[in-house]
Amino acid sequence: MFKIGCHLSSAGGYMAMGQTARAIGANVFQFFTRNPRGGAAKPIDRNDVRDFIAYAEKEGVGPILAHAPYTLNAAGADERVREFAESTMADDLKRLELTPGALYNFHPGSHVGQGVDVGIQLISSMLVRILSRLDVPPATSILLETMAGKGSEVGRTFEELRSIIDATEAKLPYAYRIGVCLDTCHVWDGGYDIVSDLDGVIAQFDSVIGFDRLKAIHLNDSLNVRDSHKDRHACIGKGKIGLDALVRVINHPRLRDLPFYLETPNDLDGYRDEIALLSSHRD
Ligand code: FE
Ligand code: FE
Ligand code: ZN
Repeated sequence: MFKIGCHLSSAGGYMAMGQTARAIGANVFQFFTRNPRGGAAKPIDRNDVRDFIAYAEKEGVGPILAHAPYTLNAAGADERVREFAESTMADDLKRLELTPGALYNFHPGSHVGQGVDVGIQLISSMLVRILSRLDVPPATSILLETMAGKGSEVGRTFEELRSIIDATEAKLPYAYRIGVCLDTCHVWDGGYDIVSDLDGVIAQFDSVIGFDRLKAIHLNDSLNVRDSHKDRHACIGKGKIGLDALVRVINHPRLRDLPFYLETPNDLDGYRDEIALLSSHRD
């Protein structure tokens, strides 16, 4: 089944997101766990969560993808910045215990001049501390997002993501597998040629990270040319990646069963149109 959806506002709660998703032809959705700039999360309405879980089951909605605030920086140079990232992520994971099986995506972080290796060490040690405090492995899949390489972002290359994964898993008190969310705009801006060599990029992902770790796709076009290190999303077919290449992504035999989440600059009508467009091109 084609698992396709988009980023939705979480202002109305889980049930509202589920119903909005269905209304625009989506069967998955992404949301921010709290204000994307950070700050305290709203208290969770347990009745809303319970109603949503029943609704999602009946309507075939899921997996849901919770996105951490994009201001989190586990690799920051300032200790308070790192502590904020750690406490926020720990709190997000706690809240996600109410919706087992959810995916949780975060931007690994920016090393802000400390160097990639220091960044990788800071990110993995934060993950180890958060996960080690749990008695059992979380029922949430934590995903590192592939990044465009804007500024000092860590996670532009598959090798960097692999290093974070290895450094983390080696120190956990239990078996747990960190996953990856591949953002088409980000990998393109990061230099990977998903337009002329999608098979090659997938083969590289497989050999460096391992294909089984890929759990979600952020499906976005890009305003910029390949290797621009910019991270400016475009609507599907309106950017430098183009509709044909994105259609090859959703139909690729190794990708087609993954959930696809649009993060294109759209209102709900725009998302509805993109979901319809992509569904019409699905083999
Ligand atoms: Fe993101
Ligand atoms: Fe993304
Ligand atoms: Zn982006």
